[in-house]
Amino acid sequence: MVREASGVAYLLRRSPRARRLRLVLDGDGTPLVTLPSRAPIRAADEFVVSRRDWIERHRERYAAERARHESRGPLGDGGTLDYSGQPHRLEVRAEPRVRRTRVEHDDSVAPTIRVRLAPADGRPLASVLEAWLRREARGAVERRVAARAPQLGVVPAAVRIGDQHSRWGSASRTGRLSFSWRLVLAPPVVLDYVVVHELAHLAVFGHPPRFWQLVRSVVPDADRARRWLREHARELHWTLE
Ligand SMILES: [Zn+2]
Repeated sequence: MVREASGVAYLLRRSPRARRLRLVLDGDGTPLVTLPSRAPIRAADEFVVSRRDWIERHRERYAAERARHESRGPLGDGGTLDYSGQPHRLEVRAEPRVRRTRVEHDDSVAPTIRVRLAPADGRPLASVLEAWLRREARGAVERRVAARAPQLGVVPAAVRIGDQHSRWGSASRTGRLSFSWRLVLAPPVVLDYVVVHELAHLAVFGHPPRFWQLVRSVVPDADRARRWLREHARELHWTLE
């Protein structure tokens, strides 16, 4: 249900499972309040009004990120794609004579990602790029795992590349690590940090101080990397959209 409290529009949802009132901003920056079944609606209105400054700040940040994303123009020839933390120019050409689509990364003159589309390839450009980025992510993650696992004294059982929406990486108790392919869009130090974070979970379960000590002993810039991820999470998810 959409409501408005003192000029702030928000979405209200009742949940029998919610024990307390909760406020989050959804994907497009709209405040969403979850209210326990028996709490009065007034409580939600009051809460939204009391957090108005926080909501405003976050919405402004969202609008600025969105504007920056849109200023890059549509995905296509002449557009921009962030790769390894660097804006790359996209060069897309139809290549009548090639059998298979090729994607190349070339920084020799200017950071460029070159796509040579095969005539038989019916995929949209976003799918072509995602398939390529997933392969690149696999290579980059595997190289970091190979370098970092011995330093941390751990051996992962398996490494998977996926597209989890809410997390960049995860580690199971059985030693299986999973990483989002979108990490390959981020600066290398960020990908390195997430790899070290998940590897460190094979040595320390949870996030006690000992865990962070271990992570920082290998990646001194861990806090900067975490902040970068928080601040760029939406951009990473908007890439290819
Ligand atoms: Zn963790």
